[in-house]
Amino acid sequence: MQFDPSLLAKYSKPGPRYTSYPTAPHFSESFGEQQWLEELRATRDCERDLSLYTHIPFCDTLCYYCGCNMVATRNYNRATEYLGHLFNEIDRMAALAAPGRLVRQLHWGGGTPTYLHPDDIRRLYAHIASRYTIAADAEIGCEMDPRELTREHVLALSESGFNRLSLGVQELDPLVQEAVNRVQPEAMIREVYGWMRDSGVASINMDLMVGLPRQSIAGFSRTLDRVIDMAPDRLAVFSYAHVPWMKKNQKLIPESQLPDLDTRIALQQLLLERLTDAGYLYIGMDHYARPDDELVSAQRNKTLYRNFQGYTTHKNCDIHAFGVSAISQTESVYVQNAKSLPLWQDKVGHGLATERGLRIEREDRLRRDAILRIMCDLELDLAAFSRDWDIDANAHFADAIAELLPMQADGLVEIDPHLIRVTESGRIFLRNIAMCFDAYLHTGDGNDEPRYSRTL
Ligand code: SF4
Repeated sequence: MQFDPSLLAKYSKPGPRYTSYPTAPHFSESFGEQQWLEELRATRDCERDLSLYTHIPFCDTLCYYCGCNMVATRNYNRATEYLGHLFNEIDRMAALAAPGRLVRQLHWGGGTPTYLHPDDIRRLYAHIASRYTIAADAEIGCEMDPRELTREHVLALSESGFNRLSLGVQELDPLVQEAVNRVQPEAMIREVYGWMRDSGVASINMDLMVGLPRQSIAGFSRTLDRVIDMAPDRLAVFSYAHVPWMKKNQKLIPESQLPDLDTRIALQQLLLERLTDAGYLYIGMDHYARPDDELVSAQRNKTLYRNFQGYTTHKNCDIHAFGVSAISQTESVYVQNAKSLPLWQDKVGHGLATERGLRIEREDRLRRDAILRIMCDLELDLAAFSRDWDIDANAHFADAIAELLPMQADGLVEIDPHLIRVTESGRIFLRNIAMCFDAYLHTGDGNDEPRYSRTL
């Protein structure tokens, strides 16, 4: 894949990652527990399958770059107490879904799900499995932190049925690890990776990060050598989002230690070259996979989908989410649980833990569909879209198409009356391309920009 570094500089600006549209800042507290309950009752027997997300917020220590909803504690009693509440929430939610609805996707995120002791991993999975019907070929994934992880954790996951494990590596350069308070030597990563491979798990992902403090071309190049040598099935390489006005812990990172724009661009260039040379394909939105990966075939067959967990091959699922800050989704609703742990615990003691949400009207659904097609299919078939939504897509998206013209001139998209197609070099600009279809970025209130990380 070729790209022009000057275009990276030109298009680097704050923008959403579109794990939802409208994005989470547009959720409102006027959509609360009662509305969510009504939606769950209305969709109880619907034909859409289920994707279950469980949030485990605890971590042993705080990584300074962290942007997640997490609680740093070494007091395991807090996790034990949390599990008790979580089981109640799962029971309550399971009662609101018809027993026949198949679970196609199940994901644990955090925080650190492997903060849980191995026995509790088994207990939590068994509890979910006893309340839901999990498809034999379900995609069952868990995020893992290599620090303080044991072979027993990996066994508890693989024996429970997890078939997709994701290891947080971020950067192997010791200088960077020290700067972000996440010290995990390469030998530790290799040992954990060996346990994961030994467990026979079907797919291993590694998370990396670019834009971290003290990150250098030489150091990241060595990291890529070692990661490529370990040969994970997938890689997700996120750009560090420095938003200390939203994430107070990021104030612990001196801005003078952050790589400048030229270095960030060089890091991105190195990343793309090295991973594509090593045989990985760039799916889009920071995700790489091997050519025989199901994400690649799904993209080719236009069945790829994107939700709060990132890219998935399971398109028509409602997400039912458990745990503090977790986000659920039906076809017409997004809803988020309370983001503060005490509030979430209080709410699940009485009912659903809803804090805010959004009912998605037709115009939002239509634009969401367009953004998803760009993000997943790398093209928008305007003729098919017009038929599907009973509109004239060219007229409806005239503003978006006009906004795309400079990107066409830069070779990032090709536009004809029937099709908008992302070019090979446009793949790394998917967020910028999708932003043209985002009606909320065009309201001119200026409130969105500071919320989002830079697109590159
Ligand atoms: S392990 Fe993940 S969730 Fe926990 S502090 Fe580090 S980045 Fe945040």
